Amino acid sequence: MTKFTVVTIVFLLILAFVMVFSTGAPGLVLAASICLAYLIVLGIGVSFIKLNFFTKAFSRGNPSEKTVALTYDDGPDPENTPRLLDELSKLQVKASFFCIGENVEKHAGLITQMADEGHLVCNHTYRHGRWTNFLTPGKLAAEISRTAESIEKITGERPAFYRPPMGLTNPRTAKAAKTTGSAVVGWDVRGLDRKATSPGKTIKRITGKARNGSIIALHDSGVDGKVMIAVLREIVDNLRKRGFTFVRIDELYSQREA
Ligand SMILES: [Zn+2]
Repeated sequence: MTKFTVVTIVFLLILAFVMVFSTGAPGLVLAASICLAYLIVLGIGVSFIKLNFFTKAFSRGNPSEKTVALTYDDGPDPENTPRLLDELSKLQVKASFFCIGENVEKHAGLITQMADEGHLVCNHTYRHGRWTNFLTPGKLAAEISRTAESIEKITGERPAFYRPPMGLTNPRTAKAAKTTGSAVVGWDVRGLDRKATSPGKTIKRITGKARNGSIIALHDSGVDGKVMIAVLREIVDNLRKRGFTFVRIDELYSQREA
């Protein structure tokens, strides 16, 4: 049973109790307040994937392993991704890329390069639209499957890991992930790099929050390329000095506690 189901049952029981035992205007105000509180809880559940509110998501590896995973969303990007791949190669770090299906088809050569250089190519839906997460389970599953097929055609390997756009979840996420046989992946450290014009805050945020098993969420599309590279160099240097090893999501997943 998901947390969403439990919260909904409790909400309905409380609401029924109030409707039966409270009358008049105070009863209506109380019922409205309970409904509002329920909606706020749902909103929090949609926004924070690591709460596992609607579906079980993999948002952190084993807390007793000194490993972390770098993840890059929304690519591949013709400008940023080649620079990032070069830098990852120099640093000898393997990353996991949550790619948008449309971009996979436009820049197939970069997907080949990712796979050839030992990175993990993962699924981030086909269109990554504002409302993609709220498509019907069937349409959402079609988005995931179409991207998986595009990646498999290029790399020969069907991606097992799926990250919902913006990390938003709802009951449809769980159904679509089940239909497509995908493991839902979140994060526990968010770079908030999309609007960064200098690397400082993102570096501070990541190095301050990273811990054993952390999944670090960054972007290789829609970001300033220079900032992206500066962030990568500094966090790799900082975390390695602190004894962390960088691994791909599949390795982190295999280390997770039962
Ligand atoms: Zn995204």
